[in-house]
Amino acid sequence: LEEQLRQSQKLEALGQLAGGIAHDFNNLLTVILGNLELALTQAEESSPIRACLESAAHAAQQAAELTRQMLGFARRQPLQNVPIDLNTLIREEIRLLRRSIDPRITIHYQPAEEPASIRGDPVQMQQVLMNLCLNARDAMPEGGLLTITTAILPQAAPPPSAGPTSGERHASDEPKPYVRLSVADTGCGMTEEVKNRIFDPFFTTKGIGKGTGLGLAVVYGVVRAHEGWIACESAPGQGTRFDIYLPYVPVDTPSGPVRQETAELSTP
Ligand code: ADP
Repeated sequence: LEEQLRQSQKLEALGQLAGGIAHDFNNLLTVILGNLELALTQAEESSPIRACLESAAHAAQQAAELTRQMLGFARRQPLQNVPIDLNTLIREEIRLLRRSIDPRITIHYQPAEEPASIRGDPVQMQQVLMNLCLNARDAMPEGGLLTITTAILPQAAPPPSAGPTSGERHASDEPKPYVRLSVADTGCGMTEEVKNRIFDPFFTTKGIGKGTGLGLAVVYGVVRAHEGWIACESAPGQGTRFDIYLPYVPVDTPSGPVRQETAELSTP
């Protein structure tokens, strides 16, 4: 429990800091986006530079959306709560990723046969996936295999140390369906000492200017806010695997969307 408390205090500090940074960042992004859009109106339809500008504008828009979220996080705005098919979200994310990743890294994607349906915030889920994939990329400077899989587990329960209620057993810890999202790499792996600290805000081994140490702290916060949990397996020289478990909510669950409507109506 003490560990959970320490973690949430750190997240609180992170929230305050992030709010300040996000605000200034948003102003800078407005300038970047404005100029990209201007450049796009000047670039000829057939010019190869167009694709570069479009890709940059797309990334800048995502960044703007992220800072918006960060501001929301600092202000404690509720998460979006909409149906998400992780399979679709991952497919889109992989398209983006291919552009920014060393071609010596092979991306292997194994989706569950059925939609990996959850409820939550699509932008934050994108951020989770991106943070995990970029860490995997950084762990494989010489190339390797990045494997992303989703699976639907009809009966899963959080381990006592990682569950939403941490430590004590709770009715919500009863086995129920979960979606498991796994991101595995064949990179440098981690020692036990590093692994124990990876979710701490500002913990990084990447050196000044390269890592912020916020990626996995954000992943942790988002996963907990979605009532899920996260597990990590890693061995030096072997690679790393992150497993994220999120409550499975099929789209045709009658109570799902209805609950959302009621929630929206009752919140001014
Ligand atoms: P950052 O990427 O800015 O360092 P993170 O919170 O995302 O911050 O990661 C913290 C640290 O966890 C990294 O600096 C690295 O040491 C370790 N780490 C995270 N993912 C991996 C991975 N896939 N393989 C090896 N080490 C990792």
